[in-house]
Amino acid sequence: MEEPEFRIGMQFANKDELKESIREYAIVQGRNIKLVKNDNKRIQAKCAGHTKCPFILWASKIDRDKQTFAIKSLSLEHECTRVDKLKYTNSRWLSKRFADKIRKNLDWDVGAFKAEVLEKYHMNVSKHQIYRAKNLSKVIIEGSYVEQYARLWDYVEKLKKANKGSTMIIKNKMKGCRPLIGIDGCHLKGPYTGQVLTAVGIDGNNGLYPVAYAVVEVESKSTWIWFLQLLIEDLQIKNGKAWVFMSDKQKGLIPVIETLLPTAEHRMCVRHLYSNFRTEHAGLAMKNILWVAARATTIPWYEAEMAR
Ligand SMILES: [Zn+2]
Repeated sequence: MEEPEFRIGMQFANKDELKESIREYAIVQGRNIKLVKNDNKRIQAKCAGHTKCPFILWASKIDRDKQTFAIKSLSLEHECTRVDKLKYTNSRWLSKRFADKIRKNLDWDVGAFKAEVLEKYHMNVSKHQIYRAKNLSKVIIEGSYVEQYARLWDYVEKLKKANKGSTMIIKNKMKGCRPLIGIDGCHLKGPYTGQVLTAVGIDGNNGLYPVAYAVVEVESKSTWIWFLQLLIEDLQIKNGKAWVFMSDKQKGLIPVIETLLPTAEHRMCVRHLYSNFRTEHAGLAMKNILWVAARATTIPWYEAEMAR
């Protein structure tokens, strides 16, 4: 399908394949090609660039019962000039044509991508189209990986039936729980005022373990940024995705963690949530339900407790 070279007698498996080849031809040639006839028996394509442009492609079904189309008449000359923008070079086409490159480099720079389209096809596409093409590809690539991994067990069962006597093993590598850090600030008492910012974990004896603390004038967005940047550096946190942070609902802290560790999980401390919750929903029964919901490890379990 890439850089099609049309000839008389050339066959296409079906109409869609022929139309796709014409689109691809139009892009490679930099010409606006319109379909003046487009039904289930024939396709006639003409150049829209110039009223007198002699380009023409005529194809029709070779057999009434089959889907195959063949080129019956053809004139490949153009008297028009190339254009560098076509409706065919949309994000769908970009994601398809550059699928391999996007797959190998999901962070492919938008400018570099745009430059490559210009160099290879002499076509100008917008940055917006590039963004959309990359997102389209990501959805397809990640979706297909997820689907394939989810079917590994089915695959092994099939292999066991098809290749009797062979050994198939799936070994799951569970890397345990994600490290969890609780962060909070509190006021200092005594003659020297200020606030303490803390980061704590839980040790093997289920006791609180102070990871880091700092004394600051006031708890604010900028002091949290300073504190957390030091913490990230000191703990050598490279992949935020592996970490979970827990705090109360202090306004400044949520955007700070979002900025410094955009992939980390950030959850609210239930004890803090409860202190607000109990003013509206008093009683031990409600307290217990809240904690059971907080501890739920599956979505249906969580939803059932929340409904209660
Ligand atoms: Zn032309």
